[in-house]
Amino acid sequence: MNKKLSPATICVQGGWQPKNGDPRILPIFQSTTFKYDTTEQMARLFDLEESGYFYTRLQNPTNDAVASKIAALEGGVGAMLTSSGQAANFYAVFNICEAGDHFISSSAIYGGTFNLFGVTLRKLGIECTFVDPDMSEEELSKVFRPNTKLLFGETIANPGMNVLDIEKFARVAHSHGVPLIVDNTFATPVNCRPLEWGADIVTHSTTKYMDGHATSVGGVLVDGGKFDWNAHSDKFPGLTTPDASYHGLTYTENFGNAAYLTKATAQLMRDFGSIQSPFNAFLVNLGLETLHLRMQRHCENAQKVAEYLQGHPKVAWVRYCGLKGDKYYELGEKYLKNGSCGVLSFGVKGTREDAARLMDNFKFIAIVTHVADVRTCVLHPASHTHRQLSDEQLVEAGVAPDLIRLSVGIEDVDDIIADLDQALAAL
Ligand SMILES: *Cc1c(COP(=O)(O)O)cnc(C)c1O
Repeated sequence: MNKKLSPATICVQGGWQPKNGDPRILPIFQSTTFKYDTTEQMARLFDLEESGYFYTRLQNPTNDAVASKIAALEGGVGAMLTSSGQAANFYAVFNICEAGDHFISSSAIYGGTFNLFGVTLRKLGIECTFVDPDMSEEELSKVFRPNTKLLFGETIANPGMNVLDIEKFARVAHSHGVPLIVDNTFATPVNCRPLEWGADIVTHSTTKYMDGHATSVGGVLVDGGKFDWNAHSDKFPGLTTPDASYHGLTYTENFGNAAYLTKATAQLMRDFGSIQSPFNAFLVNLGLETLHLRMQRHCENAQKVAEYLQGHPKVAWVRYCGLKGDKYYELGEKYLKNGSCGVLSFGVKGTREDAARLMDNFKFIAIVTHVADVRTCVLHPASHTHRQLSDEQLVEAGVAPDLIRLSVGIEDVDDIIADLDQALAAL
């Protein structure tokens, strides 16, 4: 696909490139396996000497078409679909970290990722230090250790709504010889392409805006292809020294700038198997075809809702980087010129119980453990997604106990505001 096409065109035209007589629409290759005529050809595929399909856990044509569309949208060299956003972030880290290693993550991240990094990876011997993403470069530099392997952050934090200073994070990561991994779920490549700002690897929960209709849990890992693993080969032996499980093949030598992605596919997906089903990939692709239109409407609606809430006497605070005076307004202007996303957070004056009561007053705005689909919905993280976290951890993760996360959909904005208005009036 021509990289010069704009994101809107890639959303519609990227990925599947039918040849003469092929289906116009991306077909669902609902097949576990692929047939070959000779043993030898199959053997070459298993040795990674030839590319081709042989088993859907490793590669599937439907998934590959969708992954290549997302890679083109992000400006990466390739991508791999995973069964969920959690799997994508796990692979992103585990691809270059092993027992005894350390990495650094912004503390303003999705609750599930916070648990994965802080609790589960620790059980595998990988230690994560969480940092305030707004700390200075000097402070951040001090957190690095000789065994630090990567830096991680979210473009727009879920649900804290912090905007990441990607260039700052990239500078510090690169000055310590490690890559920056950015979870770009909320911004989507329509509104921000972290690779253009210096990130090296991008992840997504495709469950959110990419699917956009709340039909399919999924994730994606995108390789920017620019990080020089060989320049820091002592830190990344998994990429720069022979892999015994592939007859001593070396990823950087054999696959050049796609080394990271090839290792993730050939080794991690082979062994952990969190593949996205081709049917889900098909649905994600349908979502991607309108992503550019939906993001525009999500952002327009969220901006109006944020302004309405900010002017309401019962609302204590609103966090949306599109609001002038928001802590992240300037970073938003820099990294999210076309808009940020449809998600905002706010608190109502009163107690934590008042926040819960407000949620029960809505008519069509629904309480669901979801964000970033076409339907407006709300969540109270302290009692839902983040309930495993202590009060201290909640604050560290940028989640106030009274924080209500509102995911503004693409309905008529006047109807959304009317529903908010009657719910607040009844409080
Ligand atoms: C939802 C989410 C995830 C996890 O994705 P799943 O698809 O639910 O596994 C990761 N990161 C962010 C920013 C998310 O919003």
